[in-house]
Amino acid sequence: MMPGKDVVVIGGGAAGMMCAIEAGKRGRSVLIIDHSPKLAEKIRISGGGRCNFTNLHARPENYLSENPHFCRSALARYTPRDFIALVERQGIGYHEKKLGQLFCDGSSQQIIEMLKRECDAVGVQWWQPCQVRRVTQGGDFRLSTDRGEVRADSLVIASGGLSIPQIGASPFGYRIAEQFGIAVTPLRPALVPLTFAPEDLAHYAGIPGISIDAVVSAGGMQFRENLLITHRGLSGPAILQASSYWRPGEMIHIDLLPDEDAEALLLEHRWSQMQLANLLGRYLPKRFAQAWSAAVLPSRPMQQYSEQELRMLAARLHGWQLRPSGTVGYKKAEVTLGGIDTRELSSKTMEARKVPGLYFIGEVVDVTGQLGGYNFQWAWASGYAAGQYV
Ligand SMILES: Cc1cc2nc3c(=O)[nH]c(=O)nc-3n(C[C@H](O)[C@H](O)[C@H](O)COP(=O)(O)OP(=O)(O)OC[C@H]3O[C@@H](n4cnc5c(N)ncnc54)[C@H](O)[C@@H]3O)c2cc1C
Repeated sequence: MMPGKDVVVIGGGAAGMMCAIEAGKRGRSVLIIDHSPKLAEKIRISGGGRCNFTNLHARPENYLSENPHFCRSALARYTPRDFIALVERQGIGYHEKKLGQLFCDGSSQQIIEMLKRECDAVGVQWWQPCQVRRVTQGGDFRLSTDRGEVRADSLVIASGGLSIPQIGASPFGYRIAEQFGIAVTPLRPALVPLTFAPEDLAHYAGIPGISIDAVVSAGGMQFRENLLITHRGLSGPAILQASSYWRPGEMIHIDLLPDEDAEALLLEHRWSQMQLANLLGRYLPKRFAQAWSAAVLPSRPMQQYSEQELRMLAARLHGWQLRPSGTVGYKKAEVTLGGIDTRELSSKTMEARKVPGLYFIGEVVDVTGQLGGYNFQWAWASGYAAGQYV
């Protein structure tokens, strides 16, 4: 006879483990199936190895979705405080780095081990590595895997998004949705570096590693943080944030001197012998100031510019406009924007409306957080929500 479980969770990452823990606490028998040979690789590499596991200020406004209200209910029922309580109970040291972002003092491995311990405490069983070959439904769910077959009353899809295929990301969740006639919104890489168009690459590719405190605007949103020049384009937190709101073909706007009045500053030096690039080098990294001014107007002594040119330069300093050629793609993206259409799911339980017993949680759903611990908070909250009902 085919072995059976109350709940099978496919994907033992952040959301999958949280759901398994909560279901286990309710006395449900739970099996996690994951195809990766290693446990929770995304958590391991997150936050530069220290896992930015939540954000103190997480609100629905920090998430992108075709239905921005969908995440509201789950986020309200499992808050950053709830996850912090879990971290504190297990004695894991943490600190706020900036903007409400909480990181482990030690390593992200502590969060993985914490979740694994919680799973073990409620008797969660694991098949890992294990490939799921087929899922069928006939009353319950039947899974055919390379470890044999298994039945489940509830099937939870927690297989994440497409980013970083090198460590196990797969389109599994979207395929299951397709199989069951569940809509998926368009997918694209987000929290991702942008690439320069060829004309910009020519000016800036020679100065990788330069970081600038700037305000970056795209798609009606603006973010003040660092931007980083790379050998292919732009990265850094301000760009990653803006990338989620940027659409291919659109411009991004960058205020390079958010704390200065560029016009007053340039006009004040109007009669100076100083080169423009040297003046800008007092406010911006010197090599960037040189590359930027050469791209806009050849650098000359300040006294050789007309007032009109200085006003134009000032406007460009507060509104450097670039049309990126694209993104560096899923290989470097932190998340996938889009996913299981939230109209298909109950916001209370994460269950598919058309397919009772089938649940989708975490990044595979069309709910994408901004940079700063919001994506894990969604994984915990959606996993917790489903865990109460599976
Ligand atoms: C470099 C990087 C850094 C990040 N840093 C942060 C951060 O500091 N803070 C933050 O909030 N977010 C961060 N994120 C985003 C965050 O990691 C994800 O949003 C989060 O892990 C999503 O949780 P999940 O459980 O939905 O998916 P995942 O954690 O990705 O788990 C999915 C699991 O499903 C498994 N799986 C996939 N396909 C299959 C299949 N076909 N069969 C079986 N199993 C399968 C995978 O092996 C994986 O274990 C980062 C992402 C990246 C790439």
